[in-house]
Amino acid sequence: MATVNENFLKIPKNYLFADIAGRVAEHQAAHPGRRLISLGIGDVTQPLAPAVVGALHKAVDEMGDRRTFRGYGPEHGYAFLREAIALHDFAPRGISLDPDEIFINDGAKSDTGNFGDILGTDNTVCVTDPVYPVYIDSNAMCGRTGSFDDGAWSRVVYAPCTAENGFTPALPEKRADLLYLCYPNNPTGTTLTREALGKWVEYALENDSLILYDAAYEAYITEPDVPHSIYEIEGARQCAVEFRSYSKTAGFTGLRCGFTVVPHEVTARAASGERVALNPLWNRRQCTKFNGTAYIVQRAAEATYTEEGRRQVRATIDYYMGNARLMLQALGKAGYTAYGGVNAPYLWVRTPEGMGSWDFFGRLLAEAGIVCTPGVGFGPSGEGYVRLTAFGERDDCREAMERLAAWTAGAR
Ligand SMILES: *Cc1c(COP(=O)(O)O)cnc(C)c1O
Repeated sequence: MATVNENFLKIPKNYLFADIAGRVAEHQAAHPGRRLISLGIGDVTQPLAPAVVGALHKAVDEMGDRRTFRGYGPEHGYAFLREAIALHDFAPRGISLDPDEIFINDGAKSDTGNFGDILGTDNTVCVTDPVYPVYIDSNAMCGRTGSFDDGAWSRVVYAPCTAENGFTPALPEKRADLLYLCYPNNPTGTTLTREALGKWVEYALENDSLILYDAAYEAYITEPDVPHSIYEIEGARQCAVEFRSYSKTAGFTGLRCGFTVVPHEVTARAASGERVALNPLWNRRQCTKFNGTAYIVQRAAEATYTEEGRRQVRATIDYYMGNARLMLQALGKAGYTAYGGVNAPYLWVRTPEGMGSWDFFGRLLAEAGIVCTPGVGFGPSGEGYVRLTAFGERDDCREAMERLAAWTAGAR
């Protein structure tokens, strides 16, 4: 008899984006002539950089020629890309990585979700709240999170991030083995200072915990005191794994490429008490379950490091951050309190007069024709906020802010 992994049955369905889509469809059916503007999308909208497109074409031609055709590549990625990453993403920040510490993948979601394969199921997990749902759900799937009662997992330690603590999570009161941190943060758009991140590294070293650091939005950082990599913090090479992605950096959400850094020094304990290095374990896992990212896609990722590639990728990020600036300004003028939007393409907006996330979402949709994402969908500490993204077209962002201002003035 084939049985299922019971852990899957404990996971509540994530209705958030389906619920939003349902509400939007209902509204459109009732108001067919009305143009809605979505500031809810968590996906990029601008096309790939010409340098990336050129590299893709060239690589496709290589694949069509028997002299340059390539079959299976190395599971952990081609050396040309791993070396480019070490050289361009880390060396300029004073971080020296051996290319063998870099594992190319098909995006950060896969590896943030899969990394738990090499860790014991008895580890306790800490997440910041609100949170990117992948961290929790992937741990739930392997039975690490206990039972789901009253909207929370019994074995998960939640570290609330709200305006009251400046979106800087307090260190977990209950000891946790695996610490998931995502900075710049999705959904709040906020960051940790070097000092604040240093406290987490210190905690991990003292408690023999492992930090799983998601730096998918690293390229959006504009302020100097915000670390781009956790390895800027002393001691992090002993206790942290870092996930990066070309998705938001270079518009690869549909192309799929990212990488994971597993320093040689990172270890975890075996039942025997022996320290086991995670790098060879992760390599073993990848060699068994993953057969590498497409050659043409790795060439495309490499092209983001050429002079013109860097310039073009930067221009697109600047475009999104221009949207964010415009939105932040408009929100402030209309009397809203908004966070984020300075080092990340997300704005985390306080709902007015303590209105619930879903209430505000509904009124904004019905009365202003704007789609946002209710903060509570990302976790209980997201109640009383909504997330707006800066990934739209400039004119849409502008019009949405005009609508919002007019609606706010009329509604008060
Ligand atoms: C978009 C995003 C990623 C990137 O996912 P990919 O699988 O690389 O597309 C990773 N982490 C967070 C928090 C994200 O929002």
